Amino acid sequence: MEHKVCAEMLGELNEYIDGSAKEQVCAEIEKHMVECPDCRIFVDTMNKSILLFQQQDAQIELPGEVRERLYKKLKLDDILGAQEPNSQHGR
Ligand SMILES: [Zn+2]
Repeated sequence: MEHKVCAEMLGELNEYIDGSAKEQVCAEIEKHMVECPDCRIFVDTMNKSILLFQQQDAQIELPGEVRERLYKKLKLDDILGAQEPNSQHGR
């Protein structure tokens, strides 16, 4: 049984969440998510955050840069935070 490393999926997950991933990649990710609750939660969290952001976007208009930063932050919190308990807090 081959197991794709979650970190390897990250780039693909971004595309998947974006909706820009290819069908084959989507299938791969969905297959991975069946076996990997971590990635499932990750995608779920990202989707919710993006939805939230999009809703706010309509009113506040956040620069893409900020959204990108949140994107990265969520990614790090979720993936690195789970592996490294000594991740820095605050800034
Ligand atoms: Zn995973």
